[in-house]
Amino acid sequence: MMRTYSGSCHCERVRFRVTADISIATICNCSVCTKKGFVHLIVEQAQFDLLAGESHLTSYRFNTCIAEHKFCRHCGIHPFYIPRSDPDKIDVNLRCLEGVDLEQLELRPFDGRNWEQAICTAHWQRDTDVSSAVLDRGAVLELAVLDPSPEPPQGSNLRSNVRSR
Ligand SMILES: [Zn+2]
Repeated sequence: MMRTYSGSCHCERVRFRVTADISIATICNCSVCTKKGFVHLIVEQAQFDLLAGESHLTSYRFNTCIAEHKFCRHCGIHPFYIPRSDPDKIDVNLRCLEGVDLEQLELRPFDGRNWEQAICTAHWQRDTDVSSAVLDRGAVLELAVLDPSPEPPQGSNLRSNVRSR
């Protein structure tokens, strides 16, 4: 169910509002999420409002430098960031929302230690064309070689459906 939640860092210089269904969230086992304890929910920018504290945010980048791990430079809390999988969206740390009982949420694992493989089956990506999204970012070109998507046969329904759209 969509609801609007208030969120903040610990010192509350950074405050935001997010409108989302938070019933299914993600725990990632990558090197940085493990240490941060981040509980992920990726939302559209339209679902997110930064109310205060932009000037108090700083960011940490590593590896591909696509993800921008924002955190409050005063209290060190990471309330949200720009995720590598969806750099046009916001990944909110559900631990930073008010009135949320994490025990009530379904927390699904994401194998961020093996990011290139895991992103292709990530539950929040299933409705989108992940392979092209990932390839556009140049992250896993080898996937295209290892697992070429076969063209549908000429004249198949799939192809004519695609063409007719
Ligand atoms: Zn803070």
